[in-house]
Amino acid sequence: MTQGFNICKDPLVNWNAGKLLPAPRRKRPRQRERFYPVHCANPDCNNIRWLTKSAAERAEAEQRMCRKCQTIQAGKKGFAVTAARYGADFALRAVQRHQIANPSRHEQIVAEWLTEFNANFQRQADFAETDEGGVRHCFILDFLVSTLQGKQIVLEVNGYFHNRYRAERDYWLECLYPGDVIFINTDDIDKDPEQVRTAIHYAIQQKQ
Ligand SMILES: [Zn+2]
Repeated sequence: MTQGFNICKDPLVNWNAGKLLPAPRRKRPRQRERFYPVHCANPDCNNIRWLTKSAAERAEAEQRMCRKCQTIQAGKKGFAVTAARYGADFALRAVQRHQIANPSRHEQIVAEWLTEFNANFQRQADFAETDEGGVRHCFILDFLVSTLQGKQIVLEVNGYFHNRYRAERDYWLECLYPGDVIFINTDDIDKDPEQVRTAIHYAIQQKQ
């Protein structure tokens, strides 16, 4: 009988390493919730992400991969279909175009301001850092902007969905990025674009 042996894979979630992190709600903006480190289900990927209890349970039950692996897998499928139809070169260019050329309306507004300010900026830049618990965090930054002083600051353009469900990601970005991270609320762009524009301009011009 082999039933007594544990032939299962290691669990994805480390339930002993929970940590209280920001999880704001509309009426309780300062609320914190316990998050757990969760391994990616792809055994070749070392990525660990912090999830709430219910999300971690779901990730374990459905053996979920991290966002990056999911994106790569989805991209590969799309790539294969496009490559079969139009050839690999065309498909590759289509993937690159798609990644850079799909800014949200609010991202477009911010990009226009940065261009207007003659700012040096990069969209969708990668940033990765390891937290004190040894968990590796990988970020794709909305805007990486050089200030007049030559510093690199991050501008993140966040909508309601992001603020509600991705606050924990922003917590880590702010902790781990060695420079300033400015979070721009899309609601604020809609309500008072001039104020947001001025704040961004000021941040870029800072000579400290
Ligand atoms: Zn992964």
